[in-house]
Amino acid sequence: MVTGRDDSHHHIGGPTEKCGVVGVALGGRDAARPLYYSLYALQHRGQESAGIVTHDGFQQHSHVQMGLVGDAFDADDLDGLKGEAGIGHVRYPTAGDVSKSCAQPFAVSFKSGSLGLAHNGNLVNADELRDELENFGHAFTSTGDTEVIAHDLARNLLEEDLVRAVKRTMERIHGSYALTIMHDETVLGVRDPEGNRPLCIGKLDDGYVLASESAAIDTLDGELVRDVKPGELVVLDPDGSGFDSYQLVERDNTAHCFFEHIYFARPDSVMNDTLVYEVRRGLGRKLWEENGVDTDVVMPVPDSGRAFASGYAEAAQEDDATVEFAEGLMKNRYVGRTFIMPTQDERERAVRLKLNPIKSTVEGKSVTLIDDSIVRGTTSNQLVQLLYDAGATEVHMRIGAPPIVAPCYMGINMATREELIASDKSVEEVRDTIDADSLGYLSIDAVAEVLEKSRADLCLGCVTGEYPYDIDGEETDRDVSRPVVGAEAPLSD
Ligand code: SF4
Repeated sequence: MVTGRDDSHHHIGGPTEKCGVVGVALGGRDAARPLYYSLYALQHRGQESAGIVTHDGFQQHSHVQMGLVGDAFDADDLDGLKGEAGIGHVRYPTAGDVSKSCAQPFAVSFKSGSLGLAHNGNLVNADELRDELENFGHAFTSTGDTEVIAHDLARNLLEEDLVRAVKRTMERIHGSYALTIMHDETVLGVRDPEGNRPLCIGKLDDGYVLASESAAIDTLDGELVRDVKPGELVVLDPDGSGFDSYQLVERDNTAHCFFEHIYFARPDSVMNDTLVYEVRRGLGRKLWEENGVDTDVVMPVPDSGRAFASGYAEAAQEDDATVEFAEGLMKNRYVGRTFIMPTQDERERAVRLKLNPIKSTVEGKSVTLIDDSIVRGTTSNQLVQLLYDAGATEVHMRIGAPPIVAPCYMGINMATREELIASDKSVEEVRDTIDADSLGYLSIDAVAEVLEKSRADLCLGCVTGEYPYDIDGEETDRDVSRPVVGAEAPLSD
């Protein structure tokens, strides 16, 4: 609830998700409806705005609107989006204003054709690039990163073919990005060289799709082909018959956002060849191994803690613990983003509106409450209180991630360092603040083990304070530096 708005579509107060992208090339039918359904499948990644850009072989069509996917489009809007190729975007604002000018996909026409861009991630050097491009006479209409990438690419396309132009832009931008791009009717997908944000390829009966998460491919009855590789450009054939791959930038290490697996992605998505739900259950099992406490019941914070709690309870029972899995908190699914945030002294009521304890599973019991993360600690504190009020004798909190100690610069709206409860508090101090009987987090090594990655191949910035990118005023544990921009002579356009 970083922005003071209610973000409870997916989680009860926590970091907000950051954008979903999709791209589709079909042979023989319009792309608008498949794009629309895919955006529905990615709605959890952004609720601020939704948009689709298509191309019918002659011209681009675009419809971008503030609000949820279901509100942003009606049947006429979809009918107007002609063409068998297109890209789509759901947005939660990262860089840039919360206004329609920053909603995506960003669409622009220029000398050598039209471009549409949908971006998930955040560039570290967008300001430098913007300054340089402005010096060359480019006029910007928004404050977002996406327009910077679009202008840079448009500029390179004046001199290079598509693949080389993308490579040149990739060598100039520094930060995290998963992009779907449309150049005239050709749909492309690009993933940053560190693979920080996810992007995958799916096959349909009559075409191909690129999407942030495989759940979007499932929605279209398609099959997941594979993840787009870090530094790879995928170009879909405009007739939907296949795709070409170009490995444009290679790095020794990746920097996958571990938090996607813990928090952002849908549990039914497959990332890095593993079902997210199973990863969360595996993390829950580890949580029992590292920090298990035998109480009468273990219960999830709905819905974010559910898979963790199920793995935790399973591992506990295998160890002959007596703890039972129970649903102890009931979620009101209809408290959405139209909910008017209460005044400061009414905030406690906000939690009661969203969650109500099931008395029979709580009263007179010792309880372990499981969630995926603690950001500011206010929600955790209210939940602990809620369980005590419902008659719990003890409340132990277990978290399926390490403490979040630092902000995210890669496009996740985590909170500022000052707002993060664990940034300057020990685990014992956090426990004391949220008023639980005990508190246990998962170790970073356990996360790496369950994700089957080395620490050097993950972004762990928000839990270590060391980032895989060259960010002003922050530490890095890697050999990274920003590309030098501004050194180039203006192109002769
Ligand atoms: S800092 Fe955290 S949330 Fe941000 S990309 Fe890295 S792991 Fe993900």
